[in-house]
Amino acid sequence: MAGKALHGQCLCGRVEYTAREPIASLVCHCKDCQRQSGSAFSVVILFAAQNVEYCGELSTYSNKGDTGLKVERLFCPKCGSAVVSRCEVMPGVDVIKSGTLDDTSAVQPVAQLYCDREQSWVELPVASRFPLSVSPEMLLARVAG
Ligand SMILES: [Zn+2]
Ligand SMILES: [Zn+2]
Repeated sequence: MAGKALHGQCLCGRVEYTAREPIASLVCHCKDCQRQSGSAFSVVILFAAQNVEYCGELSTYSNKGDTGLKVERLFCPKCGSAVVSRCEVMPGVDVIKSGTLDDTSAVQPVAQLYCDREQSWVELPVASRFPLSVSPEMLLARVAG
């Protein structure tokens, strides 16, 4: 695999990963991300699943996003840190919670999703705003443009 390896871990360090070739970074304001993170939104960084290697056991919580498609949220069973999500709407993509990266300098969000759920005080300098989710094709077209 080419490209600089990015290392990340959960809060307690039992789960670690190495990821290469980030696709894009996004902000998600959906209510599920607010609840899971305990914060106002998630900041995530997308990788092709084959470009991420994990070390350590992850637990999984699955539900359906409002697209009706499955979302798996993987977290450390010891410290509870959210590490990665896998969304049926984006097959083959690992959606890593960017705060778990050691070095977050690769994180530069290019779009905001679920802006209709955005908390009223939030104002982020990311111009591409989508009211709900967006298809990966549409997103990548927007990112490329
Ligand atoms: Zn942990
Ligand atoms: Zn979300």
